[in-house]
Amino acid sequence: MATTPYSKTDKTIAYLNRQYARMFRRVTSFDELNVIEASREVYDEAYTLAEREATRLAEVIYKDHSKEERVFDAAGFVLALILAYNPVTKYVFKNEIDRKRARFAEGLIASDTPHEEIERAKRLLAATNAQFMDDVTFDTMVTAFRDNGTRYVRWVTSPDDRRCKVCAAMDGKRYPIDRVPPKPHIHCRCWVTEEADTN
Ligand SMILES: [Zn+2]
Repeated sequence: MATTPYSKTDKTIAYLNRQYARMFRRVTSFDELNVIEASREVYDEAYTLAEREATRLAEVIYKDHSKEERVFDAAGFVLALILAYNPVTKYVFKNEIDRKRARFAEGLIASDTPHEEIERAKRLLAATNAQFMDDVTFDTMVTAFRDNGTRYVRWVTSPDDRRCKVCAAMDGKRYPIDRVPPKPHIHCRCWVTEEADTN
């Protein structure tokens, strides 16, 4: 697979998935009465971990795309994204995690097959977090370019198996840095490159 700005994102996602596997294994050892409490603990831990790893990722992505060394409040930047409505996913990340936790607890109590509920919840949480890490990567990239003083960027669709069919029409299009369109769909792995000023 070709190297893209998401190579480091993939490493973060893989790390998080290993951690989630570990956390959800713990739920299986709780009895029914403790399910609500156990699910709260797991999702609180998952959320804290996602915030920490997203901050680390934003720090690295910002540095990789900056022309000079600058101070960047990665934690503040990530927290703002966590609490903002995302036009691509159509939810606020923090609220979505809370909803997922509530559904998981409900499902676990009602289900005759708790193991399946756990697997399903783990998969859904992993997908939500992976999407968030993609969004952090893209938004951090654009912010670093803006801080570089770059005025225009060019849209690039992923060259590998994750190429977005929806985005093919945007490939190579030029946008003013303050009018970079939101990702057209979830799982979009497009990015932007800096354009030299032509005037
Ligand atoms: Zn795309």
